[in-house]
Amino acid sequence: MTFKARRHTLVASVGAVKVGAPHPVVVQSMTNTDTADAESTAAQVAALARAGSQIVRVTVNNDEAARQVPAIAERLRDEGIDAPLVGDFHYNGHLLLTKYPECARALAKYRINPGNVGSKRRDENFRAIVQVAVDNDKPVRIGVNWGSLDQDLLTTMMDANAAASAPREARDVYIDAMIESALRSAHLAQETGLAADRIIISAKVSQVQDLVETYRRLAARCEYPLHLGLTEAGLGSKGIIASTAGLSILLAEGIGDTIRVSLTPKPNGDRTEEVQVAQQVLQSLGLRSFTPQVTACPGCGRTTSTFFQHMAEDIQSYLREQMPVWRASRPGVEEMKVAVMGCVVNGPGESKHANIGISLPGTFEEPKAPVYVDGRLVTTLKGDNIVPEFLGILEEYVASHYVRESAGNGVGVAVR
Ligand code: SF4
Repeated sequence: MTFKARRHTLVASVGAVKVGAPHPVVVQSMTNTDTADAESTAAQVAALARAGSQIVRVTVNNDEAARQVPAIAERLRDEGIDAPLVGDFHYNGHLLLTKYPECARALAKYRINPGNVGSKRRDENFRAIVQVAVDNDKPVRIGVNWGSLDQDLLTTMMDANAAASAPREARDVYIDAMIESALRSAHLAQETGLAADRIIISAKVSQVQDLVETYRRLAARCEYPLHLGLTEAGLGSKGIIASTAGLSILLAEGIGDTIRVSLTPKPNGDRTEEVQVAQQVLQSLGLRSFTPQVTACPGCGRTTSTFFQHMAEDIQSYLREQMPVWRASRPGVEEMKVAVMGCVVNGPGESKHANIGISLPGTFEEPKAPVYVDGRLVTTLKGDNIVPEFLGILEEYVASHYVRESAGNGVGVAVR
């Protein structure tokens, strides 16, 4: 299968981050701290940004949260974190953004759910948020959600469908209602004075087939950049796999300009997992590179000890830990390929295809581990220090192959 070219879009600027083709698909995330707790929220935004989230969203659900947004932004500036902050508003966004102008200024984008801006004064409240965006020169995301779809619009469309001579399936109408809600809101935003390139759209659902169908239809009807994500993706491997399945189909069709993976973390779990998954989706599809990739065989009856699994894990963790530093100092390292193989059956072959690879001894094999660099056997490691010795070779490889050199005008350039 050949991937389709990226769909043509307008480009929205979220702070300094460009969202839309031809810019790379942007990874974003959301905090789960109480925004009123500025210290915890700033710490989590910083952790997400360091993990590679280019944009971070925080909920702004009440007066105290809105009051603390400027303090969060200031803490992040002090720490040198420049990921733009997005405010997520439901029900009272029009009130909070007008009552707390410093909050409105500190945020780089406002997320509005058209289904959650009130019932009687929906358009008026929606316009009030958009007006704040216009006044502050900010973009908005019009984020429609399956679980909070505009019920009046849905009812009208369902009634019209029921009265039709050949009614469509309810699911079909539901999808169209989501798209209609998003596009009507976008038009209302433009009528209010917001430029078309200040609008990003999302229409999230919780089932993969519905997600794909919704975004295909949406992509065909507008040029706004699209924020992709499966809402309520769920826990653990279910959430990761469902998100990957949905996002991959759409990204392979050139649809999607920014992604978020909405995982439910374990209690006190690591929130940055959603960033790692989003990056891995893009890297696995060959759309972006974020971190060196470790190719490891699954192991089998030839690898009866756990040494091989530990080694693969240690190397992957080591690479991830180095990336915050390497990202600035070792240009191109994110494309490096490392192979850690369990025995000599496929080990040397796979190692030769990697930049650097090691093939560990399988059960009953000689206790030695050949190391390949750029396809050539360079050494054979033995004994108890195979892991640190291999990491030493890896360090040397990175230092000699991914170098930032001055272009003579003070600007660093990659020389690999
Ligand atoms: S490379 Fe060796 S250990 Fe790994 S799965 Fe293949 S045969 Fe098993």
